[in-house]
Parts: sequence; C-alpha cells; structure tokens
Amino acid sequence: AKKQGLGKYAFFQQGMHTHIVHIMRMESDLRKAFERNELCIYYQPIIALEKQHTVGLEALIRWQHPQRGLISPDEFIPLAEETGLIQELGRWVFSTACVQLYQWQQRYPQHANLGININVSPIQFKQPRLVREIQDIIERAGISPRSCRLEITESAMMYNPEETLKTLQELKELEVQLYIDDFGTGYSSLSYLQKFPIDALKIDKSFIRDLENDPRSHQIAQAIIALGEAFNLKTIAEGVETQQQLSILKMAGCHHVQGFLFSRPRPLSDIEQYLCAETKY
Ligand code: C2E
Ligand code: CA
Ligand code: CA
Ligand code: CA
Repeated sequence: AKKQGLGKYAFFQQGMHTHIVHIMRMESDLRKAFERNELCIYYQPIIALEKQHTVGLEALIRWQHPQRGLISPDEFIPLAEETGLIQELGRWVFSTACVQLYQWQQRYPQHANLGININVSPIQFKQPRLVREIQDIIERAGISPRSCRLEITESAMMYNPEETLKTLQELKELEVQLYIDDFGTGYSSLSYLQKFPIDALKIDKSFIRDLENDPRSHQIAQAIIALGEAFNLKTIAEGVETQQQLSILKMAGCHHVQGFLFSRPRPLSDIEQYLCAETKY
C-alpha cells in the first residue's frame, strides 16, 4: 500500500511539474508578446436600435502571434489572470482605448458623443489602486468619464461583494458608466441590481443566438429587458447576427445592439474607415 501511495505521489508530482512548465512557458511568451507589441485592440461597434447609429465601441484584445496568427482572448486572458499580467495588460488596454476614443471624438464631428466599452477582469478589482489609475488614465486621455463604460461580469461582483460595492461606488463617483457583462449567465441575485450602482445590462449572446427558435431564450431576453426598464438600466444585446433577432429585440424594447450583423470586431484602420463613413444622424 505504501509503495502504491508513493507511486501515486510521484505521478501527481510529475503531472504538476508538466503543468507548471507549460504555464511558465506560456507566461513568458505572453509577457514577451506584450513587450514586443504583439497585442493589439480590435473594436466592435455598439448601435442604438432606434436611430441605428453607433453609440460606442467595445475594445477587444487580440494576440497577433508571428507564427500562430491571431489568438483569441479566451485563450490568453485566463493565463494573464493566473499570472497577474492582467494588471499591466488591463492598464494598457484602458489607456490605449481611451486615447483612441479622444482622437475619434476630435476627428469625426458626428461622433463627438461616442463611448468606449472596456472589459475589466475580476482580478483587476483586487488591485487597491484601480480607481485612482482609471481616474488618471481618463484625465490624461482628455475624455469625459461619462464616455467610458466598464464591462464587469457578475462573477466579479459576487467575488467579494462588500469590497466590490465600495469600488463600484468610487467608480460611480468618477462618473464612469458601469455595465454588467454576460448578464443572465452568472449567479447574481436581483438584490444586487438594487444595491450596486449599475447603468446597463448586456444580455449574453447565448440568449440571442437562439432567440428565433427557442421560446425560453426569447422569454429570458424579454425578461432582462423588462428588468432593465424596472430598474432604469439600459439594455444591450450582444451577438446579434440576423435581421430576425434584430426585429425581435426591437419589439422587446432593447436599447443597443452589437454583433456580426452590423460589424465584426475590426482592427484600428478598418474601424476608422467605418467611423468615417458613418454620416451625421
Ligand atoms: P465578451 O466581453 O463577452 O465579448 C463579446 C465576444 O463576442 C467577443 O469575443 C466578440 O468578438 C464576440 N462577438 C461579437 N459579436 C458576435 C456575434 O455576432 N456572434 C458571435 N458568435 N460572437 C460575437 P472575443 O473578442 O473573442 O472576446 C472574448 C472574451 O475575452 C470577451 O468576451 C471578454 O470576456 C474577454 N476580453 C476581450 N478583451 C478583453 C480585455 O481587454 N480585457 C479583459 N479582461 N477581457 C477581455
Ligand atoms: Ca464585454
Ligand atoms: Ca459579453
Ligand atoms: Ca463573454
């Protein structure tokens, strides 16, 4: 029995070792990628349903790998979170996107009120200087805090509700907008909507995908929009791909939409062409 136990232990150790080596290699790759400017930001338009004009852009990070091509954030954000690199990376996304927004607001008069949506990882909330940093970045970029929209998942809010509530209240005092991302997929209780200073709900794309064919998805989307109305929150549908989904959302009273139907996330030069082409509304 002792021998078996030892064998198991050795096996476990070896597995751990392989895992750690893998993580360390990926970590150093990602860090180097960051230093070599292989990370870039794509932007996806968010459109107001009523007048069908662009109200904002979501910043979505990409890794332009010299061999592997474009790597999706789902592959490397978790690693950046595990290693702590997310703090630096998050700061970089934030300041790059805010500076970019300022330039667009200046350059395109029809987009003077454009906003920027930035994803904030739950791990970034553990950083005590988060609020100060965000304030600094916004001031240095020269944008109005109101045009800055932080997308936070429910899990971030649930992780340490008391601390998070305090942080969100401080962010709210800066007058940045707070959006709940992937709404409906987490475990937040409705009482949090009342307690937390939230401005908008993003309906998760899993509900939008089946909008036409699955009555339950339809009901959930409708319920979220109704909830938004009751709490005076904006609702944004993500992952809108078809005209049919769009008309269902329109009828349900959803405010903003985002998805391949309008535009995929695009690199800087493409998105500038897009913004430039959009006429005054
Ligand atoms: P998310 O915040 O929920 O972003 C929405 C995702 O849906 C994006 O995937 C976007 O490209 C995709 N999408 C947009 N429209 C459609 C559509 O019509 N159909 C479908 N099927 N998908 C659509 P992406 O860019 O791969 O990003 C994945 C996730 O990575 C994001 O999910 C977000 O959680 C995370 N992420 C991206 N950039 C950042 C960042 O700068 N910081 C942090 N912390 N997380 C980020
Ligand atoms: Ca998001
Ligand atoms: Ca989302
Ligand atoms: Ca998501």
